[in-house]
Amino acid sequence: MEDVIALLPDHVANQIAAGEVVQRPASVVKELLENAIDAQATRIQLIIKEAGKQLIQVVDNGLGMSPTDARLAFERHATSKIKQSDDLFALHTKGFRGEALASIAAVAQVEMHTKRSEDELATKIKIGGGEIKKQDLVVAPVGTSMSVSNLFFNVPARRNFLKSNAVELRHIIDEFHRVSIAHPEITFSMLQGGTELFDLPAGNLRRRLTHIFGSKLDDKLVPVEEQTTVSGIRGFVLKPEAAKRSRGMQFFFVNNRFVKSSFLHHAIMTAYDGLLHEGCYPGYFLFFELEPHTIDINIHPTKTEVKFENEQSLFAILRSAVKHSLGMFQVAPTLDFDRDPNLDVSYDQVDHKVEPPKIEVDRDFNPFQEKATHSFSSKISPQWESLYQEIGSTDSAEMSLIGALDSNPSDATQKIFQLMNRYLVSSTGAALLLIDQERAHERVLYELFLSNITHASTSSQQLLFPIKIELNSLQKAFYNDYASLLTEVGFCLGELKEDHVEVVGIPSVCSENKAVRVFEDLFESLSNEQPEDTFSQTDLVAKSMARTLSIKRGKRLETEEQQQLINDLFACKETQLSPYNRQIFVSLTKEELEKKFN
Ligand code: ADP
Ligand code: MG
Repeated sequence: MEDVIALLPDHVANQIAAGEVVQRPASVVKELLENAIDAQATRIQLIIKEAGKQLIQVVDNGLGMSPTDARLAFERHATSKIKQSDDLFALHTKGFRGEALASIAAVAQVEMHTKRSEDELATKIKIGGGEIKKQDLVVAPVGTSMSVSNLFFNVPARRNFLKSNAVELRHIIDEFHRVSIAHPEITFSMLQGGTELFDLPAGNLRRRLTHIFGSKLDDKLVPVEEQTTVSGIRGFVLKPEAAKRSRGMQFFFVNNRFVKSSFLHHAIMTAYDGLLHEGCYPGYFLFFELEPHTIDINIHPTKTEVKFENEQSLFAILRSAVKHSLGMFQVAPTLDFDRDPNLDVSYDQVDHKVEPPKIEVDRDFNPFQEKATHSFSSKISPQWESLYQEIGSTDSAEMSLIGALDSNPSDATQKIFQLMNRYLVSSTGAALLLIDQERAHERVLYELFLSNITHASTSSQQLLFPIKIELNSLQKAFYNDYASLLTEVGFCLGELKEDHVEVVGIPSVCSENKAVRVFEDLFESLSNEQPEDTFSQTDLVAKSMARTLSIKRGKRLETEEQQQLINDLFACKETQLSPYNRQIFVSLTKEELEKKFN
C-alpha cells in the first residue's frame, strides 16, 4: 500500500489552529487590543460594525513594523516577543505564541497599515483566507491599523454558529472593559456602527472605572492596597451597599492580565461575610502583582484561569486586605488621594435626608379583572373557595395536602395575620399556610407584566415632572434594544439623548420613587445575561421589574393588603414558585400538626 501521510499545507493548518484562538469576534478584539498594547501604544481605537461580524478594526499609535516584519507577522509562530523557552517565565508582554495574526488571517479578510517612526512610508498588506493578496507602500501615520472583515467568511459552519448581534457585542464590550481597565494609562475609544460607545481618556484607575461605569460608582469605591512578599495587591472593592444581585463588576488581574478565579472570589466573599444581603455579590477591581515564575497562566491562548504557587497565603492576604479596607472606609471614608474632587457629592446633598422608600399598594387594583369568572368578589368566603380550587387544580405535591383538608373556608377567612413583617399566616380549618410576602408579590407582579406585554393592555400614569434616567454608553445600547418592551409594560419614554432619557409616564403599579431603580436593576440584569429571543427578553423584563417593585420583607401590611395579596397570588397561573423559582408558601396539615403534639 502507498504511503498516506502528508503534511497539511500552511493555510489549512492555520485554519485549524484558528479554531482555538478565534472563537468569536470578541476573541479577535482581544488579540488585536493586546498586540497594540504590546506595541506600546498610548492611544487605541476600536471600531466595530455589525457586532464584529462585518468589521473589527484596531488603530494604534504604537511602534509599527518594518516592511519585512509586516509580512512575517502573519506567519504561524512568528513573534517578536520571545526568543527561547526561558523567556516564557519572564514575560512582560500579553502575546508570545505568535499565532494570533496567522489564525485571524486564515479565517477573515485582513488589511493592515503599519509604519515605524523611522520609516518614510507605511506598509499596506492585504491578506485573506491565509494568502497574501497585495503589499504596497502607502502614506499613513506612525502605528498600526488592522482591519478584520467578514470573520469566518470561508468557514460557514462557524459563521452560522455566531450568536445575535446583542450577544456578540456584549462579549466584545466585556473584552474591551477587561483590557481598558487593566490599562488606564492608555487612551481608548470604541465605536460600534458609527456610535461612540466609550471614550476613555488616559488617567488613573478610579477615573477609568467611573468613565466606564458612570460617575455614581465613585462614591462606592473603597481602595485596597497591600504589599507582601507573596504578592502586591491594589485596586478597589465596592462598598457592601453597592453589592448587586449579579456578578457584573468582578475583575481580577494578575500581572495586568484579566483572569477568572473562583478561589480568589471565595476569599473576597469571606471578607464581606455578614455585610451582604442574601444573594448579593460584591464588586471588585483588584490587581495582583506576582513573580511570573510563581504562576501558571495563559498556557492556552484563550484561557483566563490561573494557578498560583502560594494559594493558601494568597487567600489569607487577600481576605485580610479586603477586610481591612472595608473596615477603614467606615472610619475614614476619604483617605484616598486619587479621588476626583469634581465627582464628590455637593454640600447641599450631604445633609439631604434620604427618605425610606415607600411601598404604595393600590388596593383596588386587580390585574386579573378581565378574567371575571374566576376573580374574587368582595365577599370574602367565596375567595377562599376559589383559593382551594386553585391550589387543588395545580398539579403538584400540594394536591394531596389540599385534598386532606377538612376545611371550612368561611370560618378561616378572618384569620390572616402577618408574622415577623415577612410571612402571611392563614389557617384553613385543618391546615396552616405560611406565605412569603415578597415572593408572593413577585409572582403577582411578574404575571401582571407578562400579561401587559402580551395583551398590550397597560395602564400608565403621566408624570407632572419627567424623571431623568442617566445612561452610560453600554446602558444606551441596552436601552435601544429594550425601549419597546418598556413601553409595553407602561413606561412612556422621551427621546434618547446624549447621556440620558426622560421618563414621562410610568406603569400604574410603579411608584415614582421606584422608577429609577427599575431601570438600574434592569440594566444590572442585562449586564449579567443577554437573552437571545423575544420570549426570554420579555421574561427578563417582567422578572426584573417584579423583583424591583415587589413588597419587600420587613414591610408591615394592613389587613386589607394581606387579603389582597393572598387573593392576587391565588389568582395567578402558578402559585407555588416565585419567578425566580423559590417556594412561595409552606403548609402544615392537620396530620403534621398532630404528629408534633404526640
Ligand atoms: P504574538 O502577539 O503572540 O507575538 P501575533 O500573531 O499576535 O503574535 O503577532 C505577531 C507579531 O506581529 C508580534 O510579535 C509583533 O511583533 C507584530 N505585531 C502584531 N500586531 C502589532 C501591532 N499592532 N503593532 C506592532 N507590531 C505588531
Ligand atoms: Mg498577539
